[in-house]
Amino acid sequence: MSLTKVKHIVLILSGKGGVGKSSVTTQLALSLSLAGHSVGVLDIDLTGPSIPRMFGIEDSKVTQAPGGWLPIPVHEANPSAGVGALRVMSLGFLLPKRGDAVVWRGPKKTAMVRQFLTDVLWGEMDYLLIDTPPGTSDEHISLVETLLKDTTPEQLAGAVVVTTPQAVATADVRKELNFCAKTGVKVLGVVENMSGFVCPNCSECTHIFMQGGGRAMADDFGIKLLGSVPIDPQFLVMIETGKRPRYPAGTLVNGQDMSTLTIQD
Ligand code: ADP
Repeated sequence: MSLTKVKHIVLILSGKGGVGKSSVTTQLALSLSLAGHSVGVLDIDLTGPSIPRMFGIEDSKVTQAPGGWLPIPVHEANPSAGVGALRVMSLGFLLPKRGDAVVWRGPKKTAMVRQFLTDVLWGEMDYLLIDTPPGTSDEHISLVETLLKDTTPEQLAGAVVVTTPQAVATADVRKELNFCAKTGVKVLGVVENMSGFVCPNCSECTHIFMQGGGRAMADDFGIKLLGSVPIDPQFLVMIETGKRPRYPAGTLVNGQDMSTLTIQD
């Protein structure tokens, strides 16, 4: 079983598409690896695998080793710099052409999810983040069934639910939380993405949708608000082009000077 040496498995869920689930997965993976942890990202959004593009590695091809598939490295560990290894597996790497999408019936999708969980050689990993499709689909059920069967309760840390300020008022988030309650997956908390827009000129944050929705929802459901991420035009450039934007010297994001990052050019 390829997950035996993975310490913490975290599912990333969202009620609907386009709220930034894959973007949050990408940022979480980079943050954890910059904090020195080894991180794997498994993209099981089979109809729209966007993770390879977000890491700027969409032309990579997965190789088959005797025991299974080798995930694609985004970067290796650099202990002296306090950076952990980051590896990615996605259906995107197995498709013949970049941007192809699969049109599969449920059973084929569930078989693929199971294969991703059993046949990828992750090795020793502190965290495995699993980017799931929007909503609650066959893939989710197959994923959770396999994880509950093949991993220990200590390994399956829980789920992070991503939403946007205007989506918190809809039933979509509630469905995700119900799914977790029914399947016994712990909810680690909610991330509110696209929470306001920070003006690149004056740095003022404008709450274009509404303010405090994520916090109110978290309080309502008795879960944690893990954080709020504003709309960042620089981030959009990075995600769309796969290239790290050049931040001006001294641009601090969560205390990190963005102009000094050296991981990926
Ligand atoms: P999902 O995985 O929920 O479908 P994505 O992560 O693919 O959503 O994000 C949808 C689009 O929104 C992408 O083009 C992404 O670059 C953009 N995006 C997501 N979060 C942000 C953000 N905080 N700032 C700027 N653009 C964002």
